[in-house]
Amino acid sequence: MTEPGDSSLLLIDGAALAANYRLLRERARPAECAASVKADAYGLGIDYVLPPLTAAGCTTFFVATIGEAEALRRLAPGATLYALNGMAVGQRDRFRDAAIHPVLNSPQQFGRWWTAAENSADFPAAAIHVDTGMNRLGFTVADFEALCAALLPEQRSRISLLISHLASADRPESGQNAEQKALFDNCRALLPATPASLAASAGLFLGAGYHYQMVRPGIALYGPNPSPGVPNKMKQVITLKGKILQVRTIDRAMSVGYGATHTATRRSRVATVAAGYADGYLRSLGNRGQGWIGGQLVPVIGQVSMDLLTFDVTGIDPRLAIAGESIELIGPHVTVDRVATAAGTAPYEILTGLGRRYARHLMAPAAPGTSR
Ligand SMILES: *Cc1c(COP(=O)(O)O)cnc(C)c1O
Repeated sequence: MTEPGDSSLLLIDGAALAANYRLLRERARPAECAASVKADAYGLGIDYVLPPLTAAGCTTFFVATIGEAEALRRLAPGATLYALNGMAVGQRDRFRDAAIHPVLNSPQQFGRWWTAAENSADFPAAAIHVDTGMNRLGFTVADFEALCAALLPEQRSRISLLISHLASADRPESGQNAEQKALFDNCRALLPATPASLAASAGLFLGAGYHYQMVRPGIALYGPNPSPGVPNKMKQVITLKGKILQVRTIDRAMSVGYGATHTATRRSRVATVAAGYADGYLRSLGNRGQGWIGGQLVPVIGQVSMDLLTFDVTGIDPRLAIAGESIELIGPHVTVDRVATAAGTAPYEILTGLGRRYARHLMAPAAPGTSR
């Protein structure tokens, strides 16, 4: 059936998302399973992602910035929210008003937080992020040790979480995992009563020793494989249906798109779809990407334009490959992982780039007794 409209459609499968959350939570039990929903829930849209996660029992969420946390607070009045980027100058009232826990990344931030928290018993408790080898964000181990040596009991009791982040968790064979864990254990010994969290998606699969009191997966919730090298346990959550705007027939030796990078070797049919690099359909997928229509894969031909993308649909039933129908750009047959590999990038970049122009919809739950 053809559908009206001139933009592509992003379907979000709330049941698959909830199932992924439950799988991760079971794996992490008895640790709490929080959800990382920064960057608008990895590009899916926080409004669509929050209800299924909440229904599945998730109560703690991590975002990057205070702005993201404030937006999430409006949707989740009772949830526990952490802002990973820390507490910058001038943000004190925003953290207080929206009841956001700052994740403190330096002695300066700790001082800023304590200035706000000392005489205000309801100022949000803080998490402390210690950098155990990523060399990206967080207290150095030395600064953390100095902090703990000088910590007052009333400060200690208002630190709600100690976190660190693994650099190589997607490679279980990497010695860096055990090195970071050992450093983290040393740090924990200085704050033994404080709940701790080390693992994100990939770290969760390194074993129970990495779970501590909380895990905070992101990417695995949304479908990509958190453990490259073993079969994916996660369900696909998104389907991106690229709207066909026009289908044309071209003769042998005619070219397609900017720079004429594809030339037809036979009489061909070309479907033009409403998605382009401005929608996060990366230019590197030109002449490399694939779609799915009529039960088979079809190749992207030519360069990806800003708003448009072209496929060779010569072998597809002409009643299917027509304007108003769609080609699966991402979904069960063309997974996020597959698109990322074809584009030479990571699934994170494919998801967080998902265009604002796509019409987003929560997928209707499957009727009882049907399978898909
Ligand atoms: C992004 C992030 C996560 C989630 O990582 P995934 O690999 O998406 O599971 C967890 N913790 C921190 C500090 C992060 O920056």
